[in-house]
Amino acid sequence: MRVGIIGAGQLGQMLGFAARNLDVECRFVDPSDNPPAADCGKVIQSAFDDAVALVALADTCDVLTYEFENVPVDALRHVAGIAPVYPPAAALKHSQDRLFEKHLFEQLNIPLPGYCRIDTRDDLDAAVGKLGLPMVIKTRRFGYDGKGQFVVRNEDELEAAWRDIAGQSLIAEQWVPFDYEVSCIGARNVSGDMAIYPLARNHHVDGILRTSRSPLDVPQLTEKASAFVESLLEHLEYVGVLALELFVVGGDLLANEFAPRVHNSGHWSIEGSETSQFENHLRAILDMPLGSTASTGHAGMVNLIGEISNATRELNIGELHDYGKAARPGRKLGHMTVIGASPEQCDELVGKIDKCVNQSTWRVENEA
Ligand code: AMP
Repeated sequence: MRVGIIGAGQLGQMLGFAARNLDVECRFVDPSDNPPAADCGKVIQSAFDDAVALVALADTCDVLTYEFENVPVDALRHVAGIAPVYPPAAALKHSQDRLFEKHLFEQLNIPLPGYCRIDTRDDLDAAVGKLGLPMVIKTRRFGYDGKGQFVVRNEDELEAAWRDIAGQSLIAEQWVPFDYEVSCIGARNVSGDMAIYPLARNHHVDGILRTSRSPLDVPQLTEKASAFVESLLEHLEYVGVLALELFVVGGDLLANEFAPRVHNSGHWSIEGSETSQFENHLRAILDMPLGSTASTGHAGMVNLIGEISNATRELNIGELHDYGKAARPGRKLGHMTVIGASPEQCDELVGKIDKCVNQSTWRVENEA
């Protein structure tokens, strides 16, 4: 079997490694020179929406998938007649636009923060009246890792944000004073079987995921989040892995967003689960039985952004995943996963990695 993957970044690379275990071949489309997944299969070097390249991929693969959610939906629909494309285009369409995504959550009775659609300055003023300050203004499309987002606390910040982003399709969201953030990852195969991973507790810095720990042992949250993910998977007739990110507020959950793909907050599953999210994504799209999502221990994952310090490389406490990218501030270069015998030991190991991470390389503007 051969899987065609649109995107050959680190997620494509980790899918490629998982494919080797299943004896599945991968082929990629990616515009970059020597992308991380280049060692995992042939790369057709081309733009993600290049019809000729996508047709060439579809013509030579049994099934297509994608590693990031900004692939043009129309481009996918165009090739879906040649080879099946999973996850389905409907899931991608909802996740590409925060307004459609919120409508979907509402339709499925998944609780979410208060929000308003913003097209004009009057809409913005009405949103302040409805949601109060602080609130978060987000672009409806192409925002990720906190990009395209403005937290506004007062009238001056409101003006400044409007100057920056007026003219784009926007939403305003109530500011959520969350206790912490979690994500729930689930998989559904072509036959409709589902598997849900234990919850991960996530810590973001400047909108970017810094650490994930799993399992989070709070059964009532796990139960609720799993039910939300199952309803998304079923409603969308989904095939593949999906990640739902949620805020925890005093025992309740509010959905933030979902990603129709393997997710950074599930990287711990390579070592921390009996079957990784990458293997289960491939199993799902190839309609193989899904693997067990049981934890192998208390997993902690730390993102390595901007640089992988020598101190981190010298740590001998976990698995270092170096994506092989050139170092640049704000760039996701790798991650390290540790497995503790207890949540406390996991915290201690994560703390050791954290000490080796240089915060100053974390963020840069306009980084992909
Ligand atoms: P997003 O790109 O929507 O996932 O946002 C990135 C991060 O910004 C989230 O993981 C939160 O840490 C924070 N954030 C986003 N929206 C809100 C909100 N409405 N209230 C509080 N924090 C938020």
